[in-house]
This record gives sequence, structure tokens and C-alpha cells, in this order.
Amino acid sequence: MATRGHGHGHGHGGSGSRTRVGRYELGRTLGEGTFAKVKFARNVENGENVAIKILDKEKVLKHKMIAQIKREIATMKLIRHPNVIRMYEVMASKTKIYIVMEFVTGGELFDKIQASRGRLKEDEARKYFQQLINAVDYCHSRGVYHRDLKPENLLLDASGVLKVSDFGLSALPQQVRVSMEDGLLHTTCGTPNYVAPEVINNKGYDGAKADLWSCGVILFVLMAGYLPFEDSNLMQLYKKIFKADFSCPPWFSTSGKKLIKRILDPNPATRITIAEVIENEWFKKGYKPPVFEQADVSLDDVDSIFNDSADTRNLVVERREVGPVGPVAPVTMNAFELISTSQGLNLSSLFEKQMGLVKRETRFASKSSANEIMTQIEAAATPLGFDVKKNNFKMKLQGEKTGRKGHLSVATEIFEVAPSLYMVEVRKSGGDTLEFHKFYNNLSTGLKDIVWKTVDEEKEEGNIQIESTS
Ligand code: ADP
Ligand code: MG
Repeated sequence: MATRGHGHGHGHGGSGSRTRVGRYELGRTLGEGTFAKVKFARNVENGENVAIKILDKEKVLKHKMIAQIKREIATMKLIRHPNVIRMYEVMASKTKIYIVMEFVTGGELFDKIQASRGRLKEDEARKYFQQLINAVDYCHSRGVYHRDLKPENLLLDASGVLKVSDFGLSALPQQVRVSMEDGLLHTTCGTPNYVAPEVINNKGYDGAKADLWSCGVILFVLMAGYLPFEDSNLMQLYKKIFKADFSCPPWFSTSGKKLIKRILDPNPATRITIAEVIENEWFKKGYKPPVFEQADVSLDDVDSIFNDSADTRNLVVERREVGPVGPVAPVTMNAFELISTSQGLNLSSLFEKQMGLVKRETRFASKSSANEIMTQIEAAATPLGFDVKKNNFKMKLQGEKTGRKGHLSVATEIFEVAPSLYMVEVRKSGGDTLEFHKFYNNLSTGLKDIVWKTVDEEKEEGNIQIESTS
């Protein structure tokens, strides 16, 4: 879609700096994990939007499994599956590796749980689970395992199709302890809540069985709205996982419960296989097998990055084109265009369409001043146990208590969408996704006074009544 005419649209400060990497112009941060950042970017040659994952080159290259990483990245470049985020190319600068991927705007799947008030209906959960299994099964058939299936890696495209990200990347530094002996993987990576017992045990495991376990946990969370295994004590949590000590809520159907029990079998040898899952009655309901294509793809870029060759074709430099001043005001969007394409002034969909933004439930509009918004966020977050740091119109909120989920950390950003109308985005930058959504709910309660509701939202809540003019 053409976005010329409001070039600040994807998050550059109007007068701030722009960063170019190869033929891509880097935009705003979409998300961050422990070892990587994902940024929005635009291919300046064809205007295509992409997401670029940026990794520390040294960390990746000193990694022991370099051959496997290279093989998996190469495989991922070849894979075109409707439920797997496409990998377009890889580039490297002196210090960084850039993985250019398909950009999807539907947000994270777990935002849907939040939006549908806690959990999904069984049919809806099944629909996503089927797509997840399709993706996982296909990559496995190509010899690529995920090893880090968790909510952050389940994204949706604009039409709501599930896309699994980071396939073949989880061999990259997560917690850096990965090795391969006796033909089995040894790793301690992953979020404990979603990780199979044999992975935690570090005895070496079958990647397919371990991935399926994580799919089972994900299915449980989608339908229950909470985790099957939870404990504030890490040892206790491990014990529960080892014994598969969980119980299904009463609203699960009998056949749904049965399947989950077969997947969350702590013994990988007796655990159901993916082939058997696909034949399962509960799973099969409304199942559509995926359709996909294959294509000719060059692997020169992968070769040049992972070999010590003098090939510098894919060596890029990160160039910063600095403007006169840094941001003295929040990033501005073109208000006229926002309003002129308005459908019932639904702000959230406007933001998403116009800015190349991803869908997010954790975003709100406000008519208070940017400074007031920041003050209010600080006032609401501090009593919740968060340490607040401000920088320009961005804030970092860091959870103080060290829970087993680690620090919950949150990034906020303010955008001006029209004179005195702001959009505030709240994004998780570390910690557990469900925990983050709970935090956001608490935070928004504290922000009631500055959140601006659209006419539609007011109507929905019965605060005002408006007669239709059409
Ligand atoms: P993690 O290691 O926790 O998976 P990532 O660095 O892979 O973190 O990604 C962090 C976040 O960035 C994701 O949860 C998602 O919100 C966003 N993101 C990642 N890839 C894409 C993409 N291709 N399109 C849109 N958003 C993305
Ligand atoms: Mg990811």
C-alpha cells in the first residue's frame, strides 16, 4: 500500500535519524527478546514492508552449532508454508546479523486471549492449534525443529492466519547452552513453562516430541486462559512438569481433555506423535490440510555469512542519516490521512493500517498532553512495583520483584496522531506474556482518566447513545 506523503508513518522522528541497512530503511522496534531485536523495515527498492531480526554477530558465530544453524537458516529460506513466517534473506555487517522476514500485522496470538476476555472457545483454539501443528509438522519433515515454541512466536497475519516465527532460529543463542551428542539435542533454552520435561532434564531429546509438548501447553493456555504448570518456586514448577501434574478446567470437552493428556505425557516414548495427533478425532474437526508452493531460492547469502570466505556481497553497513535534532516532540502521523480513511473513527485499525503497525490490544488513545501521559503512566506503574525510566517520549518500566518468570519489563511509546491526540503503545520487552497482559489491565485501570474512548467504545459500554444518521 502506498504510504508516500506521510513518510514518518513508521516511526521515525520527523527530524530524527534514519538508519539504512543495505536496501532496507529501518523503522520502529516491533518487539524484543533477550538476544535480539525485531524492527520494522522497508525495502526502499520496491516499498515492501519487512521485519528484520537483528542479532549480535559475535554471539552467533562463536556458537558451537554453527553448522546446524547455517543448515537450518538455509532450510528456512527454502520453506514456503502458509503458517510459517517467510525468511527472505540474511545480511551481515561487521558486528550484526540481519534476518529479513515477512512482516505480519495481525499481532501476537496471545493478544487474542486478552481481547476475548481471558480464553478462546474450543473451536477457535482448535483452528489455531491445527495451523500450529501444520507448521511444526512441515518444518520437522524438513529436519528443522523449533525448540522455543511459545506465545511470542505465534503471530497472526492481517487476515488472522497463524504464522509461526523463529523456526530454525532457536539453535541461535538463547541461553547459549546447546550441544549435540549421541544424535540428540542438548539444550537448556526456552521458557520453562512451555518446555518439555526431557528438555529441562537435559538428557538429550527428540526435537519433534519436545516441540509437540510445547504445542500441548499452548493449546491448554488458549482454551484455559492460564498455564497448565505454574509455581512460584522453580524447583516445584519443574516437579510439576516432570510429573505432568496438571488438571483441565471443567469447560474443556472430554475429547479435548483426552488429547491434551496424551500430548502432555512426561514420557516422550509414550507421548502421542504428531502423525497421531493429525488423526485424532478432536483435532480433525473442521481440519483443512495446508496448501503450499515451493520456489527456487538462492542460498548465497547464507553461505557468505557462515563461511569464512572473503565473499562480501552480503556485507552491509548500518548507515545513520542524522537529521538536525533528536525528537523534541512525539512522532507525528498525518492526521488528515488518518481521518479521511476513517471507518467510524476506529482508531486502532487506523493506526495499524496507516503506520504499518501491528495489531495490539495493549494500546490506547489519549487527549492528554504527552508529558501528562508519561506522568500518569509513571504514577500508575510505580505502585505496581515498577521502576520507571524515561527517554524522550519512550519509557521503560522494569518490574522490581524477581519472580521465577524473571523481570517483567515493558516499553511504552507515544505517537501524536493529530494535534493533541496521542496513541500510546505498551509493549512487553521481557517476561511472561500472560503476566504482561495482567499488568496491562492493572495499568489501564490506573490510567482511566487519560484514556480517550472512541464514540464506538462509549456506545459499547452504554455511556452514550447516538442515533444513526444513515
Ligand atoms: P522472542 O525471542 O521472544 O521470540 P523476537 O525477538 O523473536 O522475540 O520477537 C519479539 C516480538 O517481535 C514478537 O513477539 C513479535 O511481537 C514481534 N515480531 C517478531 N517477528 C515479527 C514479524 N515477522 N512481524 C511482525 N512482528 C514480529
Ligand atoms: Mg520470536
